[in-house]
Amino acid sequence: MATFSPPFRRKSPYMPFGDQRNAPFYGRDILSVKQFKRSDLEYIFGVAHEMREMVERVGSFDLLKGKILANLFYEPSTRTSSSFTSAMERLGGSVIPINEVRYSSVSKGESLPDTIRTLECYADVIVLRHPEVGASALAAQYARKPIINAGDGVGEHPTQALLDLFTIFSELGQMDGITVTMLGDLKYGRTVHSLARLLSLYDVRLNYVSPDILRMPPEIIQELGDKSIPQAEFDALEPVLPQSDVLYVTRVQKERFEDQQVYESVKGAFIITPETMHNAKERMIVMHPLPRVGEIHMDVDADPRAAYFRQMEYGLYVRMALLAMVLGKA
Ligand code: ASP
Repeated sequence: MATFSPPFRRKSPYMPFGDQRNAPFYGRDILSVKQFKRSDLEYIFGVAHEMREMVERVGSFDLLKGKILANLFYEPSTRTSSSFTSAMERLGGSVIPINEVRYSSVSKGESLPDTIRTLECYADVIVLRHPEVGASALAAQYARKPIINAGDGVGEHPTQALLDLFTIFSELGQMDGITVTMLGDLKYGRTVHSLARLLSLYDVRLNYVSPDILRMPPEIIQELGDKSIPQAEFDALEPVLPQSDVLYVTRVQKERFEDQQVYESVKGAFIITPETMHNAKERMIVMHPLPRVGEIHMDVDADPRAAYFRQMEYGLYVRMALLAMVLGKA
C-alpha cells in the first residue's frame, strides 16, 4: 500500500515562496512572556517601530497579502481582537473573526483541539483568547500553524505585555533604572502577571499596590525574587507614587469572582483622580490595559501623563510586528 506523508508537519517547514526561512520567530507560537530574551524584545520593538513608520506613511501595505488570520475569542474583547484585525488588514492580509463562539460549533460541544484543527485548515495563524489557564499551550500542541495567546484566563496576556513594554520604551526612552507601580487587581489581572515577568529582564523596581485579597500571586513574586528584582507590596498608593516612573492601573476582574459581594467590597478600592496626579513625577506615565470601570477618573484623561490611549495605538504596531514575524515576513 502506498504511504504518504502529510503535506506539512506541525509548525511546518513548508514555506511558500518569499518567506524568510531564517526570520526569528518564523512559525513559532507566542504563548508566554517567559519565552522572550532581552534581545528578542529589541528585535520586536525594532519591527514595531518600522510598522509605525509605515502606517504613518502609507496606512496599509501588502506584506501579508494572501495570509489569513483566525481570531478565535472565547471571552469578550474590544482592543485585542480589533487591533489584531486591524494589524492583519493593514498588512494586506485577511481575518476570519470568531468573536462569538456561541454561534460556532463550540456551542455544540466541540473541543478546543478540534476547533483549532479546523481553523488551521483555513488560516495561517490563530489568535486565541480562552478562559482557562494553559488553553493556548494546549492549542499549540495540536496546531501546525502558529498560535498567539491573546489571554488565557488569569494566566498570561503576552502580547499585551509586549505592547506595554513598547509603550514604556517609546514614552520614557528607557527601561533600566525605572520604578513601575502596579495597582489594583494583581491576583486575577493577567496583564500584570505577564508584564511583571517581562520587566524582570531589565533593571527595574516593582511596587505592588492592591487590596489584601487581590495581591500579586506568590509564585510570580518568587519567580522575580529569584532574579533579584526589588519588589514591595503596599495597601496604599501614597507612599510609592512620588518615586514611580510608571503607574500601571488595572480593573478589578469582576468575572473572576465567585462571590459578587466580595467583588463589590473591593471594586472601588483605588481611584486615580487629578488630585492623585499632584504627587506624581512630572514625567511619570499612567497606563491601563483597559477597559477601565472607574479606576481612573475621566478628568485624568487630559493630563499629558495619561498614556492609556496612546498605549492602545502602540499595540497595533506590536501586533503587526508579531504577525509579520510568525509568518516569516519580518
Ligand atoms: N483587556 C485586558 C485583558 O483582557 C484587561 C482587562 O480585561 O482588565 O486582560
